[in-house]
Amino acid sequence: MRTNQYEAVIGMEIHVQLKTRSKMFCACAVQFKDRPNSNVCPICLGLPGTLPTVNLEAVRLAIKTALALNCTINKKSSFARKHYFYPDLPKGYQITQYKEPLAVNGHVEINGKKIRIKRLHLEEDSGKLIHSGRESLVDFNRCGVPLIEIVTEPDIRSPEEAVQYLGELKRILTYLNVSDCDMEKGHFRCEPNVSLRKVGETQLGVRTELKNLNSLRNVKEGLEFEINRQTKILTQGGKVVQETLLWDEKTKTALPMRSKEESEDYRYFFEPDLPPLIVPQSLINEIQSEIPLLPQARKKILVNKYQLNEESADIIIESKEFADYFDAVIKHCSNVQLVANWLITEVRGVLNTQNIPINEFPVSPDVLGELLTMIDRKEITIKAGKMIFEEILKTGRRAREIAEEKGLLISFEEDTLIKIIKETIQENHDVVEKYRKGKTTVLGFLVGEVLRKVKGKFLPQRVSELISKFLNESQP
Ligand SMILES: [Zn+2]
Repeated sequence: MRTNQYEAVIGMEIHVQLKTRSKMFCACAVQFKDRPNSNVCPICLGLPGTLPTVNLEAVRLAIKTALALNCTINKKSSFARKHYFYPDLPKGYQITQYKEPLAVNGHVEINGKKIRIKRLHLEEDSGKLIHSGRESLVDFNRCGVPLIEIVTEPDIRSPEEAVQYLGELKRILTYLNVSDCDMEKGHFRCEPNVSLRKVGETQLGVRTELKNLNSLRNVKEGLEFEINRQTKILTQGGKVVQETLLWDEKTKTALPMRSKEESEDYRYFFEPDLPPLIVPQSLINEIQSEIPLLPQARKKILVNKYQLNEESADIIIESKEFADYFDAVIKHCSNVQLVANWLITEVRGVLNTQNIPINEFPVSPDVLGELLTMIDRKEITIKAGKMIFEEILKTGRRAREIAEEKGLLISFEEDTLIKIIKETIQENHDVVEKYRKGKTTVLGFLVGEVLRKVKGKFLPQRVSELISKFLNESQP
């Protein structure tokens, strides 16, 4: 083992904005399209004499997430004040959970490896600062919006693994419908911390934290940059300074933002205005029963029960809605592989070109299922199937109706096909002679001729069968 080689040790803190109608500790609407500072009240503005009340829906969504991430729910957790001064934080402190978080000790599995989750807790968001020219404006509409923070153990070893973890976490959260997870809109903010150590060593090195990574691509590039920077420092015999770095997407560099605060700097103490959060087992059980099949469980079914390959399965489980659509189509067409292929190529093609999500896809699962069953039973060719698919997209009519109207059903037209085959045999006397002299490879030419005349309406296999039959029957 080369001892001068470094390995990256990465941990993640993720803030997820919960999909509630109202804020964490007051009744203001969670609504960002509204006029700035219109969804505010004395509580979220931190006016003296006001008292917070816990939003039960936020607690439920947090518990749901924690259970899906295999965490243990603390039956008793508590809120704390985290003090810091910042213009977007009118109270001068943030209500969060510190010593007694809502949940601990979970994990997310990626490629058979467990990324451990240390804790998951509830907190409130701050307002939003908007800097324009020489002015800075503050919008308190986001102030007090419920968040969960999910903290991993430093189990991630590469930027690729970090992206895989985030992808899986986002999938789980959207399957649970607890958050929209739009990174650009700040629903899902991740702050990785990274340190290096020599391969084989167990002690952790000095870590830095990265902020302002608002896409998975930024996460990957930011981590790659920081790993290179630390590697250079360490190989030159220098020391990494513990600090927070701000990623700049344009220059692809991370610049120091501030030296990292220690938790003592925040003067945490128990929030005196809120009682401990007590979670009865009955509530945990109730929420557990509401958790849908999660992406990896669905993938297992696709691979093990339906024999789909991993790549296809990964695409199908990418969103819950897409996986649900797949499940609905296979109720109407038993050829699961055919359904998977069509969803991955044809249906996704339409979603991409029209830039719509699957729940806005205009073809209902039973209509698509009927079309695919016709292809599967060889009632129509794949080529005809694609034409019918286009027609369904335009008109919303059913596959069989279109196939009948356009004469695309193979069985109805076999008489015509036979006529064309006979014609073709007559027209190509010399080729037929060659065939009869034993040069059977010319059959392909005749099949091609016939297919050209019937415009691909029939299966090549069927055409070939019929031609051989006639050639052999009419042998002298
Ligand atoms: Zn409010």
